Amino acid sequence: MGTLSIVATPIGNLEDVTLRALRTLKEADVIYAEDTRVISKLLARYEIKKPLQRLDAATEAKKADEIVARLEAGEHVAYVSDAGTPGVSDPGTRMVAAVRAALPAATIEAIPGPSALTAALSIAGIDTAEFTFLGFLPHKKGRQTALREIAEREIPTVLYESPHRIEKLLEELSALDVSRVVIARELTKMHEELLAGTPAELQAHFAAHPDAVRGEFVVIVVP
Ligand code: SAM
Repeated sequence: MGTLSIVATPIGNLEDVTLRALRTLKEADVIYAEDTRVISKLLARYEIKKPLQRLDAATEAKKADEIVARLEAGEHVAYVSDAGTPGVSDPGTRMVAAVRAALPAATIEAIPGPSALTAALSIAGIDTAEFTFLGFLPHKKGRQTALREIAEREIPTVLYESPHRIEKLLEELSALDVSRVVIARELTKMHEELLAGTPAELQAHFAAHPDAVRGEFVVIVVP
C-alpha cells in the first residue's frame, strides 16, 4: 500500500517551505495539485521534476478514485493546493475522506507548514486562546446572519477575503458596530502589512491608499 502526503506550501514567499515538504515532493511518484502551473513555480525554484496531475474542487471526487488506485499499486502520492495548507479553504478534504473510506489501512500523512490563518494570528497582537475561523463568508445567502453572529461573538473571528470585497466587508462590519478589526495583507510578500482599527478607520485607509486594496487579506474581527 502506498502513502498519501498532504503537503503545505508557501503562501507567498517561496522560502517558506519545510525541508520535509521538499523531500516529500522529491520522493513522491506523482504530485496532484490544485493548479499545476502554480506549483510549477515552487518545483522549478527547488529543481524538482515530477509528473503533475490536477485535482481541484471540481475534480476532487473523480481524482480521488485515481489516487486510490495509485495507492493500491504502492505509489507515493503527494497533494498540494495553490498556497498554504490543503483543506484550509482549499480542496483536499473530500479527496482525503474518499481515500480513507476506500482504503482504511492507507497511510495518509500531513506535511505541515504555512497557512495564512496561523500566520495572521501569530502577528495580530490579540488574545488567540480561542478563535473562530470561518474562511470565506458566503456572498449572498446566509451572509447577513453570519455577519451578525460575528459581531456578537465574544472571541475573535478570522475570515479570508478577496480584494474585490474587502471594502464591502468593512462597510458591513461598520454598520454592525464592530469596534476593532485587524487586517493582515500580503503576508510573507513584498507588500506585507498589518492594519488595525475600527472598520471606518480601515475604510478611510483604503480610500486614501487605493494601492492597498490589492493582494490577499486575512481579516480578524476582534470582540
Ligand atoms: N490554504 C490556504 C491557507 O492555508 O491559508 C488558504 C487558501 S484560500 C483559497 C486563499 C485565501 O487565503 C486568500 O483569499 C486570503 O484570504 C488568504 N491568504 C492566502 N495567502 C495569503 C497571504 N499571503 N496574505 C494574506 N492572506 C492570504
